[in-house]
Amino acid sequence: MSGGPDELLTRLRAYEGRAAAVACAGKDPVNVPMIRHWCEAMGDTNPAYAGPDAVAPPTMLQAWTMGGLSGNEGRTTAFDELMALLDEAGCISIVATDCEQEYPRPLRPGDEITFGTVIESVSERKTTKLGTGYFITTRTDVRVGGELAGTHRFRVLKYAPSRGKRRTQRARRPRPVVNRDNAGFWEGVARHRLLIQRCTGCRTLRHPWLPGCNSCGGPEWDTVEASGEGTVYSYVVMHHPPFPAFTESGRAADATGPYAVGLIELAEGVRMVSNVVGVPYDKVRVGLPVRVEFRRYEDADADEDALTLPVFRVTEGEG
Ligand code: ZN
Repeated sequence: MSGGPDELLTRLRAYEGRAAAVACAGKDPVNVPMIRHWCEAMGDTNPAYAGPDAVAPPTMLQAWTMGGLSGNEGRTTAFDELMALLDEAGCISIVATDCEQEYPRPLRPGDEITFGTVIESVSERKTTKLGTGYFITTRTDVRVGGELAGTHRFRVLKYAPSRGKRRTQRARRPRPVVNRDNAGFWEGVARHRLLIQRCTGCRTLRHPWLPGCNSCGGPEWDTVEASGEGTVYSYVVMHHPPFPAFTESGRAADATGPYAVGLIELAEGVRMVSNVVGVPYDKVRVGLPVRVEFRRYEDADADEDALTLPVFRVTEGEG
């Protein structure tokens, strides 16, 4: 039987042992600032990572090999070819599954690393909850002056999604986190009313909703209903990562489409983050007049209510 799973496995396994990257050099020597940032991010206060005899945290191993936006020279086409073969076979999805590291020698500030990556193994065809596909393991050997300092094995599952998980419909928007402090806002939205919190002590308006007043510290509040008129105070255009739920159509085919996130200043003076609708993302501008509308998103699972969100429609050019 030609073209079956066995023949595919033979073709995939021809990549075992092939280099994915050859004779790469670290972009920077092992250095104190990167170690310090890592330790702060991880909350790791181990004294071994500071001071004159500092070593780098062993789990930083991969950080020294990262190519950044400009990438690493020395990458071959082997890994991309392997991925393309799997794409053709219907294994169009990928997920990182696990990583194993070994540390034969500590890395110290000043060490200049070199590394190479090999496609170590391709598993037999496996069926998981996500779907059916192949585990691909790459191994990166990190060296200092020819001496092996660390080994980094990285495994991905490249798979054909199981039918039930396929995203053929609109992408699902994330749900707002409703808690005791902001429940009143969302209750208002459900009734198509945009409510602003007001301190009953000093009358200061506030958004987002908070348990106390930033001006006077007072805990008591009531609400005023916003007129819904506002202007675009600021905005950003998100290009990456793609997020189909936030694009106008919400369809996966448009997943690469950028979208604008607006900071809307309401006529009452408070600001809120929302979608600007009615113009393409690249026509959003600071100062554009907008008006609230309550948009229903029909992307909810059958056992949940649809989502209603306040969004802001551009009113400029209206008669
Ligand atoms: Zn107050």
